[in-house]
Amino acid sequence: LHNEVQELRGNIRVFCRVRPPSNNDAANGTEALATIRFPNEREAAQIELLAAGESATGTVTMRNHLFTFDRVFQPTASQADVFEEIAHLTQSVLDGYNTSIFAYGQTGSGKTHTLEGAPDSITNFGSDPATDAGAGLIPRAVQMLWSTAESLKDKGWKYNFEGSMLEIYLDTINDLLGKTEVDKAKHEIKHDKGRTTVSDTVVVPLDSPAQVFALLEKAKRRRQVAATLMNERSSRSHSVFMLRVRGQNATTMEACDAVLSLVDLAGSERLANSGSDKDPIRLKEAQSINKSLSSLADVISALGQNKTGTNHVPYRNSTLTWLLKNSLGGNSKTLMLLALSPMAAHLNESLCSLRFATKVNST
Ligand code: ADP
Ligand code: MG
Repeated sequence: LHNEVQELRGNIRVFCRVRPPSNNDAANGTEALATIRFPNEREAAQIELLAAGESATGTVTMRNHLFTFDRVFQPTASQADVFEEIAHLTQSVLDGYNTSIFAYGQTGSGKTHTLEGAPDSITNFGSDPATDAGAGLIPRAVQMLWSTAESLKDKGWKYNFEGSMLEIYLDTINDLLGKTEVDKAKHEIKHDKGRTTVSDTVVVPLDSPAQVFALLEKAKRRRQVAATLMNERSSRSHSVFMLRVRGQNATTMEACDAVLSLVDLAGSERLANSGSDKDPIRLKEAQSINKSLSSLADVISALGQNKTGTNHVPYRNSTLTWLLKNSLGGNSKTLMLLALSPMAAHLNESLCSLRFATKVNST
């Protein structure tokens, strides 16, 4: 039983990455890193926050909050450092494991930077080492999957790739690769024999990393069109890139079929901080984000406790978890990547994020 538990535990990982201070932060004049520490340098798994807390008598004291995850990256960590720890996980899609990676954190904490990387580093990935250094997880993983697939040809494996790119806004799916710039179709999620389909969405056959990068570029332009219409909507929607990988081995007659899902979650900041309490649309957005993020935590933690596979897992509580049902449950592997700002001004949001990740991690 111990092994079994270990194995299940091993399917959910939580990493945390603290970004460096940015020019924007400097302009805001807040203090960086003053209240974040990395107590155990060698273990690289702990992060400590020093935050003001209130005692029963109402006096404000400083409290230490220590968190332990599978891995903690300091602001000095490069994109390559982060990918090195994740490469192995993304490879498992070639072995037939559904694999999902979620970037969680408040707006501006580095989710998109970690997944996609510096602007323009995806489109031109592989052409210039200087810009490649800024490239995030997605271009690196895609490049690696293709080169691994190539090297497995010798062993009889032939792989097919196809991709889709969806956005979930107000609990509704939009196809970022659809025929029209702004998607007006109604999409339905269907699960059948372990496969998930979303009606009326475009699934693109992909023959090369360059084609994946072009697809991501197209989706990014779509999100920007939507953003100008909806006032920077991208931080209030989840974006989901799904890469389906099917392999067949002509020698051994083995086959595999799995999906790698890379999810840039909507900003986790709470209502009062974003000034959204006054605007009815912002309020609706905030409620929808809150609901989907907490149902994601509920699903992951239910799965972690579901050693016997009999517990109820509340996938249906949000479109996000319902869409990713097959990528979260069963034999799948999940990584929660927590992005944190180093700024003292963001300390309370950081603390909320760390607590969310702890809930996910405590399985
Ligand atoms: P989010 O997607 O969480 O809203 P971003 O990824 O857009 O946040 O990051 C906010 C800003 O900080 C961007 O300008 C981004 O380039 C920068 N940034 C984030 N993480 C890093 C990092 N590790 N190194 C350098 N710059 C970063
Ligand atoms: Mg972002």
